[in-house]
Parts: sequence; structure tokens; C-alpha cells
Amino acid sequence: MRILVSGAGMAGLAAGINLGATGHDVTIVERAGHLRVNGSPVDVRGDALDVARAMGVLDRIQARRVTMTERAQFVDATGTLVAELPVSEISDSEQDIEIPREDLARVLHEALTRTTSLVFGESIAELHDDGTGVEITFTSGKQDRFDLVVGADGLHSLTRRLTFGPESDYLEHLGFYVALTNLTAPHDSGRTSPFLNWPGHLIGIAHYHDTALGVLNFRSDWIDYDYRDLDAQKRILLDAFAGHDEWRVPEILDAVRHDPELYFDSVSQIHMPTWHQGRVVLVGDAAHCASNLSGRGASLALTGTWLLAQALLHHPHDLEAAFGEYEDKQRPYVTHAQDSAGPGGELLMPATQQALDERNDRLRAMARS
Ligand SMILES: Cc1cc2nc3c(=O)[nH]c(=O)nc-3n(C[C@H](O)[C@H](O)[C@H](O)COP(=O)(O)OP(=O)(O)OC[C@H]3O[C@@H](n4cnc5c(N)ncnc54)[C@H](O)[C@@H]3O)c2cc1C
Repeated sequence: MRILVSGAGMAGLAAGINLGATGHDVTIVERAGHLRVNGSPVDVRGDALDVARAMGVLDRIQARRVTMTERAQFVDATGTLVAELPVSEISDSEQDIEIPREDLARVLHEALTRTTSLVFGESIAELHDDGTGVEITFTSGKQDRFDLVVGADGLHSLTRRLTFGPESDYLEHLGFYVALTNLTAPHDSGRTSPFLNWPGHLIGIAHYHDTALGVLNFRSDWIDYDYRDLDAQKRILLDAFAGHDEWRVPEILDAVRHDPELYFDSVSQIHMPTWHQGRVVLVGDAAHCASNLSGRGASLALTGTWLLAQALLHHPHDLEAAFGEYEDKQRPYVTHAQDSAGPGGELLMPATQQALDERNDRLRAMARS
């Protein structure tokens, strides 16, 4: 089949590999002009490790693993250690590989087969499914026809909006916003990742390899803004952290001001009763974002695209049956991931000073025992 994949994040790249490997002619279009390689380390865990092995990328993922969360520490306004975050608080017993998002993107990109082409700076403008194929008009003005369209365009998926209706029908905001910004690596980089809290806020520096990443999280109700407007994102973020000049806050906010690749988004989940309609199917965050608090977005992208490719192999002449099999097999992973996201925000960003003190007491007691 001729398959169009919208988006070249983890799900889009994995779809390119898995659908290409099962004999399809795949075109991926990515709105950005390049691979979006920013972001903090992500986890590949549980059955996604078996999928990565079957995709032939596990060795390369293992070679780039980091142990960033093992070094997370909470500090006070002077930078003095207050409490440490034990790994057991953020990871379960499942086998788990933590890898910088940029490395996972590069590993997947390198694994694309010759039957998959990747076009940057391109996006769907119009989509018409006539029952026997999908007519696409791209933003460049080009037109083409595909047997299948796979929406892998993330939390704010355009494919979902064009096919299933407005984002607000499916998005559940969990009450937090997250931002990541690259810092110039300081001289003391590498050993620990310090984070400072005040009620409803977390700001700090994640260190891994030779990277220093500014991390900002805050509690907020849903904010209406154009999520593609970088200046608006920066304004919201700088307002949320205004009035604080302790510790390394000014340095991190300065990096936000000057970062052309700032990552900023709501911490949200996508809940849909079905991920397919006609010849359009969704994968990854577009279908079932579990939020960064779940630590399972990349794993879901791998299992979902693998299961979709396998289902199409099992039902080569029956899309409805293939999509049904994909959804039945992927749904349990999604439910588990979405359910596991709950406690993360309370741990990282207690809402009140009392809750913050109690969290620190609890972590100190755990460290002593
Ligand atoms: C820049 C960035 C940084 C991230 N950092 C983190 C992180 O630190 N921690 C974490 O847990 N999760 C992070 N995420 C989310 C994480 O990557 C996903 O939860 C998970 O990997 C599932 O990936 P996905 O491919 O479904 O979505 P995404 O990784 O969001 O990828 C979606 C891709 O689709 C592209 N796209 C969007 N709209 C269109 C369109 N109309 N046409 C074509 N392409 C389009 C986007 O540019 C992006 O490349 C980040 C996502 C991005 C985009």
C-alpha cells in the first residue's frame, strides 16, 4: 500500500520503520524543517523493549542509555540539598532503558528503510477519504493519493482534527505545563540533576552526557493560546516564574528567552473511543497521549506502530479488521500508561508549602531507611 504518515516524532519514525519493513511504500511528512531532537530523556520499557529488538534498534538504544533520574535531587534557594528522589518513586519494576529523546530520534531515523521517504517542511492541508483512497493536498500545494493515512502528529494532531473533530473533544488537561530549554553546559555538569520547588512550581537542570537541560514545570488551569506561537509560549512561561531570582532561576529563564527550539506544552492526555475512521488511523500521542508524567510515550509509540504493521500483515485485504486488531492489542498498554500518570505531578510539584515539606520529609525518611 502507499501510506502517508503525518509527523516524524517517535511514532512517525517508528511507523516508517515498521510499515516499511512489512512491504509498504511509506512517505512521512514533518511540519518542521528538521528532526525535532530536543526534549529530555525518555523511557523505553516493558514490551516496547521486545518491539525495539524486533525492529533491530535495541542494541543502538542500549548503547545510548543514560541514568539521569537516578541523580535527581531537590535543593533549596541556596542550592543546598533538601531531599533526593529515589528511583523507586519514578520507575516501576519493569525493565526500563532511559535514552535522550534526541538519540532515540536519531536511532529511529537511521533505521528507516529505503522504501520510506521523509519530507521536511511539509504538512497536510486537506484530506479527503473517498472510500477507496485518500486524496491529500499538502501545504506546499502538491497533491497525491494514498491507500492509508497514519496520523502521528502528536498531542495537537492535525490528522485527528481533520478526521475526528476538535481537540477539545478528546483532550484532558492534567493541570500542569512543562517546558524544556537547552543551557550552555556549566563547568560542574554531569553528576547530579538539581531541582528547586516552590508551591506549584519546579525549576531545575537535568544533566546527562554533556548536556544541561533547563526543566520548568508549573501548575495551571488550561491556558488558551496558539500552541505554535513561540513568543506566546515564552510569555506564559516567564510570567509563571516571574518574581524569582534565587539560585539558578535567572540563568534558566534567560535560556528560555533566547531558545529558538523551546519545548512548551500542557501536560495532557488524549482519550478517544476509537483511533481509526475509514482509511485514516492514529498512532502515538495523536491517538492516546498519556503525558510525560507517564514516562511511557515513546514506548507506546513503538508498540502501537509495531502492532499496526502486524495487524495490516494479518488482514491485508480488510482494513477494518486490521484496525480492530491494532486497537484491541494496543489499548491495554494505553490504559496502563494513562492510569500511571496520576501521582507524578503531586511528587514533582506539590501545590502548597505544607505538601512540599511533607514530600521532602517523606523522601528523607526513605533515604534513611
Ligand atoms: C520537541 C518535543 C520534545 C518533547 N520532549 C519530551 C520530553 O522531554 N519528555 C516526554 O515525556 N515527552 C516529550 N515529548 C513528547 C514525546 O515525544 C511523545 O510523548 C512520544 O514520544 C510519542 O511521540 P509522538 O511521535 O506520538 O509525538 P511527538 O513526539 O510529539 O511528535 C509529533 C511530530 O509531529 C510533528 N507534527 C505536528 N503537527 C504536524 C503536522 N500538521 N504535519 C506534520 N508534522 C506535524 C511534530 O513536529 C513532531 O515532530 C516531546 C515532543 C516534542 C515534539
